[in-house]
Amino acid sequence: MAFDWISDKLAELHKQGYQRQRATVDYEKDGIISIGGQHYLHFASNDYLGMRHDEGVQQTWVEGIAQYGAGSGASPLVTGYTTAHSALESYLAEHLNREAALLFNSGFAANQALLQALFAQPGNIVADKLMHASFIDGAMSSQAVFKRFAHNDPEHLKALLENVLPTNSLIATESVFSMDGDQAPLKKLAHIASEHGCWLMVDDAHGFGVLGEKGLGCAESADLSQCEVPVLMGTFGKAVGTAGAFIAGSRQLIELLINTARHYIYSTAMPPAQALATLYSLEQLRDGRRQKTLNDNIHYFKTRMHDSGFKTTESQTAIQPVLTDGPKQAVALSEALKQRGIWVPPIRYPTVPKGTDRLRVTLSAVHTRQDIDALSDALQLAKEAES
Ligand SMILES: *Cc1c(COP(=O)(O)O)cnc(C)c1O
Repeated sequence: MAFDWISDKLAELHKQGYQRQRATVDYEKDGIISIGGQHYLHFASNDYLGMRHDEGVQQTWVEGIAQYGAGSGASPLVTGYTTAHSALESYLAEHLNREAALLFNSGFAANQALLQALFAQPGNIVADKLMHASFIDGAMSSQAVFKRFAHNDPEHLKALLENVLPTNSLIATESVFSMDGDQAPLKKLAHIASEHGCWLMVDDAHGFGVLGEKGLGCAESADLSQCEVPVLMGTFGKAVGTAGAFIAGSRQLIELLINTARHYIYSTAMPPAQALATLYSLEQLRDGRRQKTLNDNIHYFKTRMHDSGFKTTESQTAIQPVLTDGPKQAVALSEALKQRGIWVPPIRYPTVPKGTDRLRVTLSAVHTRQDIDALSDALQLAKEAES
């Protein structure tokens, strides 16, 4: 029979505690999520600044639909590229001090497109061990030799580079790591890249919108020029509150992508209204007000967790992992929090390395101190009930 391994595979995942299920959300707003008719305090969104429900963002999106229609109707190379897309690209290029920027439908597509375009011919990719799946898949299916350096370890990177010729070589990292919330030593990596004559690529999915006084991400917070980071990738689906992604860099890099990136050429452009709403959101984030509230919340949560007996990390960002003893404890704790009206999903292998299963708490500017108190208290109670 065809594909009869599927049932074995599912049974095995179930037995190991790795089977995944989706939750169907009824609605979600102001830090509350409703699932199956129940309300929960929501500590699982990447909407770190509450921009998804910003009235101006929503209004701009609606006006964009009235002006341009619901969808873009075609690939950007046919008729899908509008003045709305062009305005967002120009804003990104100007404020990030890059020559040009290009929009993609998702960060997943942007990473794949980039690697496929840059490595249509042989080369080398040396990337942080904890890069996102979209980057790893792109690297593995490219023509490049793919090596990984130990997480946030510039010395290991240097050692690997000793056997790598600079021609067609790309070093890659994330700015803020998606499962751990820790940050890469970007200035150091940029220095290593330039000494070795390689390019540095930064995936700023979790930094764009939050890092920097104006929310322009790691390029602003770490003051990184196009020369230091020739390939800058960011996404709009997280802190910016809409969806989609961009790559910013030299005019030539963008021209190469427009001409050869299959994810760009053979995919319908993002709806123009989405581009308009994204630009509006970026403009709103420039005052830094929401970022300040988020940072106060991060600080408060860390203070509350300090004496809790839970293993937390050094993360200074909205992503605050609470490590558990294996995948089953992660599921049990998540379930116990759910009973107390709090939504924090377990994150397990293969999303994170084996043995580092966790609850991934994400904080947002929409949370109040009372929300964070409720989470900290519930974690404490769940732990006491367990032992
Ligand atoms: C979320 C994420 C992506 C993918 O972006 P989407 O727009 O959601 O497809 C890529 N890289 C990292 C590090 C991410 O966290």
